[in-house]
Amino acid sequence: MLRCYNLPNPCHPLSSLAIEDCEDAELAYTMRDLPPRAGHSFPGCEMPMMEREPDGSTRPHTPGTPTFTRSMNRSLLGSETEFPRRGPLSSMSSLDSPLSPSRPWGRFDPYDSAEDQDKEYVGFATLPNQVHRKSVKKGFAFTLMVAGESGLGKSTLVNSLFLTDLYKDRKMLNAEERISQTVEITKHTVAIEEKGVKLKLTIVDTPGFGDAINNTESWRAVVDYIDQQFEQYFRDESGLNRKNIQDNRVHCCLYFISPFGHGLRPMDVEFMKMLHEKVNIVPVLAKADSLTPLEIRKMKMKIREEIERFDINIYQFPECDSDEDEEFKLQHQELKDSVPFTVIGSNVQVESQGSRFRGRQYPWGVVEVENPVHSDFLKLRNMLVRTHMQDLKDVTREMHYENYRAQCIQNMTRMVVRERKRSLCNRLRDSASDLPVPLMPVDSETERLIWEKDEEVIHLRLELPIFCSL
Ligand code: GDP
Repeated sequence: MLRCYNLPNPCHPLSSLAIEDCEDAELAYTMRDLPPRAGHSFPGCEMPMMEREPDGSTRPHTPGTPTFTRSMNRSLLGSETEFPRRGPLSSMSSLDSPLSPSRPWGRFDPYDSAEDQDKEYVGFATLPNQVHRKSVKKGFAFTLMVAGESGLGKSTLVNSLFLTDLYKDRKMLNAEERISQTVEITKHTVAIEEKGVKLKLTIVDTPGFGDAINNTESWRAVVDYIDQQFEQYFRDESGLNRKNIQDNRVHCCLYFISPFGHGLRPMDVEFMKMLHEKVNIVPVLAKADSLTPLEIRKMKMKIREEIERFDINIYQFPECDSDEDEEFKLQHQELKDSVPFTVIGSNVQVESQGSRFRGRQYPWGVVEVENPVHSDFLKLRNMLVRTHMQDLKDVTREMHYENYRAQCIQNMTRMVVRERKRSLCNRLRDSASDLPVPLMPVDSETERLIWEKDEEVIHLRLELPIFCSL
């Protein structure tokens, strides 16, 4: 991972967002310390909902899990003191810059220091600036899935996380309708712009999950949806027009665990096991305001222990470099220890002691959504948006999608070999050959040997007349 060009910027929250192609993604790491542009302000605005569509299904798929270690992107880790607790998300990048023809990067010119003035440079230290500018111009995209039993506060949390109202037109089903309802997949897309940085955020919801009397197959529609997105991407990138591929792969799945049980329920274990090789699962403990601090500690320990016992591979934060400073290592450990993140959601602003904030008003007091003492909401949002969004995308691309792709290619190769074998059989049969041809199922090594032998036979048959005529 590249780690150069420490330009004098304390933090650059959204510099980690999506970069689509590999080369850009790699170069993006160089961008994390890029400074904000001066003299610039954008109004934070939210676009209205653009689409909402139910999706069909394809067959399930179970690829293997490769081992995968990554290193941590230091300056991406935000702390609560670095970012304001209330108010809209903020980033500090824009396309505007105090430019001049001689110094195209204005005051963010990496050659700007006094000791650089009398040295000779080619100028490629501006590459990160170029990548930064290009990616900001292109915009970013992120797809987040929320899954878990209905009523656990998924939609409320999404609204709280992204300060939107994504579920305005949601139709609530009555008990009877919910029993007969199957798991449906809905997609909401919003375009959010902050400080000149555009983010296309897609939220994939799973209404109906866990609502049936028998929930043994609740995970299937979700697995099918994720596979479908991989399949579409695989088709698109294997096609002729690869320039404007729509990437709908799911980058992260927030899995909601009920605070009212005793740890994970069988349905939770089954869901996570069916999905952990396809998507980055981040478990969250819903409605944390219904638990005391002691209950939260016990519940977290139990869930962590069960995740380990059932071999569930949830999203792993990238490894911390050994040369990182102690404070950073501590923050990293704190983030790891917070899993499952406790969350509180609210669609309303409440007023208390002269300030207004998202919270829940109870007869005995007020819970603040963004108060780190009340829940891990801020840690989760910082992790999702400010510090690990790019990593979630990288793991999706490099691990989950790669698994799917490898499996697809393997299946295709098998099909081709089988097809060749069948056509060879037909050819041999047509020529009244009496060679015995095995037709039962074979393993891949045998398949390869058979293929080689088939090739030899074909060559031999082609060469035979020449040989005979000599
Ligand atoms: P969904 O079906 O999972 O999307 O759940 P909703 O977001 O519709 O929430 C269901 C109910 O739970 C609503 O009445 C919410 O106001 C309430 N709710 C949402 N989040 C919380 C929370 O953090 N704590 C508590 N106590 N209630 C919540």
